[in-house]
Parts: sequence; structure tokens; C-alpha cells
Amino acid sequence: MTAARLGDGGWLEHPSVRRAPSPNVDERPPGTDVTLLVLHNISLPPGRFGGPYIEALFTNTLDCAADPWFERLRGLRVSAHFLIARDGAVVQFAGTDSRAWHAGVSCFEGRERCNDFSIGIELEGCDDQPFTDAQYRALARLAPALRARHPIRALRGHEHIAPGRKTDPGPHFDWRRCGREGGWDPAQLPPQAAPAAAGALPAKASGEQ
Ligand SMILES: [Zn+2]
Repeated sequence: MTAARLGDGGWLEHPSVRRAPSPNVDERPPGTDVTLLVLHNISLPPGRFGGPYIEALFTNTLDCAADPWFERLRGLRVSAHFLIARDGAVVQFAGTDSRAWHAGVSCFEGRERCNDFSIGIELEGCDDQPFTDAQYRALARLAPALRARHPIRALRGHEHIAPGRKTDPGPHFDWRRCGREGGWDPAQLPPQAAPAAAGALPAKASGEQ
């Protein structure tokens, strides 16, 4: 994907980005700036890649009889702004000016309902496998387009804004690579992804001094 920009409503204008508008979207509270980018992982069924099911879930067209695991998704109404597949292909479900329903019960720096003020990106993946180079590249190419339209000041995982309830994108997501390749300031990344402060280094064993 070459340079992309967000046009009307916050829809990416790029021939490689497919649009699959989700009905699970509404308006942000009036006057709300989008200041947070939330990263997720999803695979349906979990650990299986490449099927049509994520897009179907976000557009309320999932056949819950297609896999025994899907029964628990019946009636669920969720969405994200973007999905980045394993091959780096980007699907957009909601303009970034709109509120997608990706974060659920969540809190960032004391502020609840993160959907109000965030953009949600789903990476096709799971908690126990690395993400692909193509996915990092797609994230890096999205970053300038998102920053050009919205005053994003922090990146977090779902696991950071809903701790104890959510674990994605999980330990295999390389935040420092995402930050470096996407041109994000290290201070915008989750605190645990920042280079360790001197005080956080393991203490030397007493015999080494
Ligand atoms: Zn999530």
C-alpha cells in the first residue's frame, strides 16, 4: 500500500483498501477528539486464519452454525475500524470519524468507554503466534494517515484498557517495532514497551560489584 489518506468521514482512500461497512457503528459524543489507537487480535475460529468469518462477524452476517465455537458469538454486535489480515490486506468497516464497537468496558488513564475516543484496529492473529511482516508494514502505512486526521496521542492494546478481561494483541505483538516503523513517539507506546529505565534493570548480584 502506497501512501493513503483518510477522506470523507475518515474512510481510507486507497484502491487496495476494501470497504465493508458495519452496521455496528454510531456517532461519537459531540466534540470528542480521537486521541487513542487501540490494537487487537482476532481469529475465527481462534488460531485459524484466512476465513471469511471476521468480516462476517463485523457485518452481522456470521453463520453461527459454520463452526461449533461460533455459537457463543450469536447476537454479538461488534466492529472495528480496520482489519489487517495476515497478508497485510486492509478492510475498513467504519470511518474513523464514527464510533466503532471494539473496546467494550474499558478505561484509559481514568477515562472510561474508550470506543468514544479511539480507533480500533484488529490484526488477524492470536495471543500465541507472531504477527506477520506484512501486518507491521500495513500498520506503518496506516499510521501517517491516522495522525493526519486525528490528534492521536497514545497507542494501547485491548489488554491495556481492559486488563483482566482481555489479553490481545498479546505478548507476541512487538510494540517497539510498531512504534519505530510507524513513526510513533516512544512515549505514545504502552509503558511496558518503552526501553527499560535504568532503575528498572535487574540489580547486579552482590558479588559483581
Ligand atoms: Zn480486542
